[in-house]
Amino acid sequence: MALAIASLVAMLLAVSFPFISFTVSGVSNRIELTQTASTLIGFHQPLVAIAVIMTIVVLPAVYLIGVVWLQFGLLRNHPLPYSRDIARSLSHLTPWMMADVFIIGALVSLIKIAGLAEVDVGISFWAFCAFALLLLMTNQSLDADWMWFSLEGETLAPEGTQTGRPAAGQGLTGCPTCGLVNRLSPQGTGRCIRCHEKLHQRLPHSLQRTWALLGASTIMYIPANVYPIMTTTSFGSSSPSTIIGGVIQLIQMDSWPIAGVIFIASVIVPVGKLVALTWLCLVVRRSNELNAQSRTRLYRLTEFIGRWSMVDVFVVAILVALIRAGSLMSITPGPAALAFGAVVVLTMLAAMSFDPRLIWDTPPPPRPPFLRRKTATKEPVDG
Ligand SMILES: [Zn+2]
Repeated sequence: MALAIASLVAMLLAVSFPFISFTVSGVSNRIELTQTASTLIGFHQPLVAIAVIMTIVVLPAVYLIGVVWLQFGLLRNHPLPYSRDIARSLSHLTPWMMADVFIIGALVSLIKIAGLAEVDVGISFWAFCAFALLLLMTNQSLDADWMWFSLEGETLAPEGTQTGRPAAGQGLTGCPTCGLVNRLSPQGTGRCIRCHEKLHQRLPHSLQRTWALLGASTIMYIPANVYPIMTTTSFGSSSPSTIIGGVIQLIQMDSWPIAGVIFIASVIVPVGKLVALTWLCLVVRRSNELNAQSRTRLYRLTEFIGRWSMVDVFVVAILVALIRAGSLMSITPGPAALAFGAVVVLTMLAAMSFDPRLIWDTPPPPRPPFLRRKTATKEPVDG
């Protein structure tokens, strides 16, 4: 509760003071945090603007208010109304909060323009760093098990549950949100008796959905790399730059570490995610106990790193808002910003729709070769 309140205060400070300012040849511009999103609307990029403001301010604020609401009730031993729904939604919000990724984006932007103009960071920048750190600490210190025990009590496992045997065969499943083992209806669905989360023995059409989302993100990855992500105008001449072009430019400026960060976040992570998820979808039917553990680890890794690709989108948002000195020096967003943002969101959704339990399902035993040959030629005659 203390950490959540502290991060809310830090966030209020971060949105109410100047974030960064820059000066070039006597012309200066100073921006506030929310302008990183509102400027994008002026450049006809409302979807990117919504993604930026949601991930760095709105969703973290909703999360923190939810935590304060929950903990206030729990401290008085009398949960406030809607506590269960709030507790359930906290775990769904977590992957979409990207304040820490935004900090990396801000640092990359600062280093990118440090050689071209004079840059100053304002109070809000430090407040935002504190906010990102406190948000991370709040998230880490929230004990989900304790929270569910305090909210809904310690429920026993359904009668007849046998430990050490797979749940699916017994008509049971673990709740993905609170972890409680529940008995499913004969159709393989149900709701968690503790947190009311929808339960499925296996996510419906998990592989089809993952394939569809992977296909969509692969398609979006093409315009994300072909079109410019931003156009820099400097002393009257403008030069558009793609994601890879930006990396090459940084290497030419000898900014190796920043070039590395952008290359990893914008190329290695999204491509690696696409390849890893495609491979998992292909081999999931042929998993066995020997490789299931390493495949689950790979899945967890793709789930974890996905959000870090947003760095480049945040860099564009910050630079577009900050560098506005007309023909002297200005930066405008390119069509690739939206396409790349879509790649990040679609690959995150693809990872979420993949059901890692499929990796642990034992495949049907292979049929003996003589039987296979027989069925290949003609149906066996009965009797
Ligand atoms: Zn549950």
